[in-house]
Amino acid sequence: MSVLNQKTINEDILFKGVGLHSGLEVNLVIKPAEPNTGVIFKRTDLKENNIIIPNIFNVSSAVFCTTVSNENGASVSTVEHLMGALYGLGIDNVLIEIDNQEVPILDGSAKLFVEAIKKIGIRNSNAPIKIIKIEKKIEFNDGKKSISIEPSKISLDIDFELKYENKFIGTQRNSIKVFESDLTDIYNSRTFCLFEDIEKLKEMGLAKGGKLDNAIVVKNNEILNEEGLRNEKEFVNHKILDCMGDLYLAGYKIIGKIVCSQGGHKLTNQLLRKVFESNENFSLIEIKEKSLPHVFINKSHLRSIA
Ligand SMILES: [Zn+2]
Repeated sequence: MSVLNQKTINEDILFKGVGLHSGLEVNLVIKPAEPNTGVIFKRTDLKENNIIIPNIFNVSSAVFCTTVSNENGASVSTVEHLMGALYGLGIDNVLIEIDNQEVPILDGSAKLFVEAIKKIGIRNSNAPIKIIKIEKKIEFNDGKKSISIEPSKISLDIDFELKYENKFIGTQRNSIKVFESDLTDIYNSRTFCLFEDIEKLKEMGLAKGGKLDNAIVVKNNEILNEEGLRNEKEFVNHKILDCMGDLYLAGYKIIGKIVCSQGGHKLTNQLLRKVFESNENFSLIEIKEKSLPHVFINKSHLRSIA
């Protein structure tokens, strides 16, 4: 069976936890799905209108986390770490049943999603994958924040930089090739916040489920988490995970090169909306074995494009 065919997971996987922002307890089950289903959320606590498609045009809020909603107002928030895990592992089709409004934060990263999916295993289908190929460079700027996407031959590159006045975080930059790099550090990197922002977040009704076992808290020149950082560039690596998850709201894998400075959920969403404004900016390719471009054939080390 071709590695360029659509994939799902072998069996149901259950996660229990709390929502980072809502603080609500939640059960989430990832279930195998047929080819061409895509990734779909189903709110099992709602009796009707409970299907929510994680799509760039369904993003109802991108402040601190990504929330997707359907036309009846049913929503799921903080989808980005789970979406990033599915993207990195090359999972095309799953039904995600969730009995509350927010994906559990678990340890603040995608680590547990990735480990559970790898343990249960990935199943190939006979249906070819589809890929969005970026044809034109598109940029989006908002003050000091900038993001762009431009054509690339075969890979999805993400080059991300963050700049914080806080000296412990400071300036960090990393770049990865999503389909080729070892993504372990990306998956394992946790969400973070500044100690002085916690009160503000709580006043906004956010971070109700935030604890030191699901977020890095930076206070002046140190972090409050006793175990320290998981990798040297954990802050920017987490932003790359967020970016991967937000990019998957395009519906398919993307071939292109992202360069982002100081961006986040909102900027990524604004960029993608701009890309999909015109058919000239991208093409949708269905990759069949027979029509495989030679560049793919020689890329035996590709981990997940397929
Ligand atoms: Zn995040």
